[in-house]
Amino acid sequence: MLPDLHVHTARCGHAEGTPEDYLLRAHRLGLPCLGFADHLPLYWLPLEERDRSLAMPEEELAAYAEEVLSLKGRAGGISVALGVEADYIPGFEERLRALLAAHPFDYVLGAVHFIDGWGFDNPAYLDGYSAWRLDDLYARYFELVVQAVRTGLFDVLAHPDLVKKFGYRPGSDVRGLYEEVARAMAGGGICVEVNTAGLRVPAQEIYPSLEFLEACRRYGVPAALGSDAHRPGHVAWEWPLAREWLLAAGYRQVVFFEERKPRFLAIP
Ligand code: ZN
Ligand code: FE
Ligand code: FE
Ligand code: ZN
Repeated sequence: MLPDLHVHTARCGHAEGTPEDYLLRAHRLGLPCLGFADHLPLYWLPLEERDRSLAMPEEELAAYAEEVLSLKGRAGGISVALGVEADYIPGFEERLRALLAAHPFDYVLGAVHFIDGWGFDNPAYLDGYSAWRLDDLYARYFELVVQAVRTGLFDVLAHPDLVKKFGYRPGSDVRGLYEEVARAMAGGGICVEVNTAGLRVPAQEIYPSLEFLEACRRYGVPAALGSDAHRPGHVAWEWPLAREWLLAAGYRQVVFFEERKPRFLAIP
């Protein structure tokens, strides 16, 4: 079995299950490693504007870290890692850096969920898509992704082509964008996440697309694997398909983390 480094918990306000519930599920499935990557508090917003259903409040972050760390010693042979999924918001890099430095994370997933204030992956804001030419939307999204990569704040780029979530596809060829992002990732020493949540949404495709993942492999970008579980039953979601996706792109190993250092595991 392959590791899963992207699971959420009930703390974020829109997922189910305690860390123990996820660990139990990972145990049943025979996973070697389980990484928690719950949503980091919405650090770029004033306290009163932070939506409790999007991420845990900042005063819970220490308890989240402690709860996950406490599982490490009693995980029954599974390597447990403390991660976090951090939004990239231009202009707030220093606040993010300080927040990340305050806790002993094993790794940080970087995610672009907002384009100029618009939560484009939130079904409540679907009407925002009508304001865009899709080619421009893809260009802007990947521009933010490249900026995120260049901050050096993240170990893994989460769901790299999240912009396809609701099935809005660009009219033109975006392979050039994939090349550009993959080159930036190689330069920034960041890993690519193969995320199976894309199979649970209208996109009906793993993040990233095979062409994008192949570009990453050509540039020597290591791959990590995540289910983006929001309930224990999502752990290792569609792992056989994820394995095929990785192999088809030419990957022979995936990465897991301990104290911000990558550890490579052969794909069985
Ligand atoms: Zn979530
Ligand atoms: Fe995300
Ligand atoms: Fe997530
Ligand atoms: Zn995510």
